[in-house]
Amino acid sequence: MENELPEPARFFRPGTFDGDVSVVTGGGTGLGLEISRSLAALGSTVIIASRTSEHHAAFLDEGRERGWNVDAIELDVREADEVHAAAKGIVEKHGKVDILVNNAAGNFVCPAEKMSPRAWRAVLGIVLDGTFYCSRSFGKHMIRRGEGGRMLNVVATYAWTGMPGVAHSASAKAGVWALTKTLAAEWARFRININSIAPGPFQSDGARANLWPNEETAEKIRESIPLGRFATREEVARHSLYLLTREAGYVTGDCMVVDGGLSLSAGRMWEPGAKLERPPRTKDA
Ligand code: NAP
Repeated sequence: MENELPEPARFFRPGTFDGDVSVVTGGGTGLGLEISRSLAALGSTVIIASRTSEHHAAFLDEGRERGWNVDAIELDVREADEVHAAAKGIVEKHGKVDILVNNAAGNFVCPAEKMSPRAWRAVLGIVLDGTFYCSRSFGKHMIRRGEGGRMLNVVATYAWTGMPGVAHSASAKAGVWALTKTLAAEWARFRININSIAPGPFQSDGARANLWPNEETAEKIRESIPLGRFATREEVARHSLYLLTREAGYVTGDCMVVDGGLSLSAGRMWEPGAKLERPPRTKDA
């Protein structure tokens, strides 16, 4: 069905984001693309921002076909000056920005003792610096404009549980979670709502290439999730959209966990349903 709404958008009133202008970093692939498609289908102008224009083509083509208001900009979120210029350019072209989704990220599995300073910096640069630079530049605009705004940061539950193999990403996401709460408190007076979403594992080209490059690893991860499956990008996008609605306007500084229970079972001591064999009781016990 060509004109059918993207799946996550079907849970919302048509026109939920009418009149809004949204910026989604890393919006041309994976979760970012799913959020961008639904925001556009529900009435927002959507500008996706990432380094590679080839990643923008599918969204721009679909947008043109479906009559959505879409745009894209080449941007490396690690570069504060570039981010500042991009925010200025977007506001000049589209008049304002109401919504910012900090979704861009990089990640790969590497034991901490083998992680080079360059690898550490690369992930911290995209995830933590990038989120701060974007929040700051678009936040300044929202503050100046005086009409409030909404921001969503994509984190991961290992921000607070930790996770072997991803010291860089876990540390960066922990920083983004702290930034979420800090900015939510600082900018509430400007009516800017800032929340996070923490997805469990879901399939994307980036995750498949860098986190579970073979079926055996994917299966092990699947087995560790209490609900027994990966998330779909659509279901993570659905919850992300909710946090961006005006109806969620009294929620700020929060994090919605959408991980099938994975973070509840980190380091679990007993298999769910396991029956413990006890030695027979002695008289003194
Ligand atoms: P993905 O498809 O690999 O997308 C990552 C995006 O980030 C790409 O579109 C990429 O675009 C952009 N990006 C990377 N470096 C950038 C930079 N320096 N400047 C601007 N954009 C940059 O990722 P995904 O799996 O959908 O993940 C989306 C979000 O969910 C991320 O924040 C990730 O940490 C989080 N998450 C994912 C999982 C999972 O299982 N997949 C689990 C928990 C949390 P360009 O290459 O064009 O720059």
